[in-house]
Amino acid sequence: MDIFEKLPQALLPWYCENRRELPWRQDKEPYHIWLSEIMLQQTRVEAVKGYYSRFLAALPTVEDLANCDDDALHKLWEGLGYYSRVRNLKKAAQVIVAAGKFPTEYADVLALPGVGEYTAGAICSIAFDMPTPAVDGNVLRVISRLTEEETPIDQLSYKASVRQKLMEIYPAQAGDFTQALMELGATVCGPNRKPDCESCPCKEFCGSALNGTAEKFPVRLPKRAKREVEMTVFILNCDGEFALQKRGKTGLLADLWQFPNVPGKLETEQALAAVVAMGLRPKNVIRCVERSHIFTHIIWQIRGYYLEVDAPTGDFTWMTRQQIEADAALPTAFRQFFE
Ligand code: SF4
Repeated sequence: MDIFEKLPQALLPWYCENRRELPWRQDKEPYHIWLSEIMLQQTRVEAVKGYYSRFLAALPTVEDLANCDDDALHKLWEGLGYYSRVRNLKKAAQVIVAAGKFPTEYADVLALPGVGEYTAGAICSIAFDMPTPAVDGNVLRVISRLTEEETPIDQLSYKASVRQKLMEIYPAQAGDFTQALMELGATVCGPNRKPDCESCPCKEFCGSALNGTAEKFPVRLPKRAKREVEMTVFILNCDGEFALQKRGKTGLLADLWQFPNVPGKLETEQALAAVVAMGLRPKNVIRCVERSHIFTHIIWQIRGYYLEVDAPTGDFTWMTRQQIEADAALPTAFRQFFE
């Protein structure tokens, strides 16, 4: 029996006893599973819990999501980042509503906007008990440790081969098996720390545990350095109202709100001149702070100037802090200047 064939028997009883109670594990409603999987991409479980509950309280059905106003939708996602995820959720909801029901075939789920192989596999196995593996970085790490695989896990052909091998051994309890693998990769065999092999249900047949090699795996391709972009952000305050503007309809943080900004890091005199060029009259520079924000491929190096201006002019929307909190989705890259 190879290592893959041993997995269902080892993982299913372990998952039954050790699974964490999470809000999206309370039912098998495809909308709930889909939403949680999209939220969990690039985001920690603890951070997702509150967003998930608020989102479903505001938009309890796929129809509600399909009809939700974009600004309200961005507000529900504010702080989660990767905003294209929520825009695709809405597009996919519109496809589902037009079709009259949530798709139940893997190919149709995979065809929804924003749904890749991992998410389609998770939805179909968890909601419909189909033998469709959901292979992400966590699962690849576990498999590479179990098999002491020297191939870098970020090589696409490796991911495809793991998916194929898992598909061949999927048990009837497909949803539990998918979640068991995810759970192992998120807990005892988690990232960025020594695996807890003593507590692992696979320790008797895991190559890394038997040979003491867990810290060698997974092997990865060398990372490409992120591009650094410098910018200056203006937090312009006129009697308690702040100048905001909408970002463009495409590109990074599309259609969200931002503080006015210009490329490059400006010195104080240059910053004051830039504010005048925006049609405003600066009174005081109150503070200047340096922050950064990391995206997938870019790092913004940001200098922020806090200025008072004498009138709410210029091509801006002026909002109080309370109005921003209530209505405007302000991404973390800019929001951090309030904190
Ligand atoms: Fe990971 Fe250790 Fe379990 Fe192997 S035995 S899968 S290395 S936790």
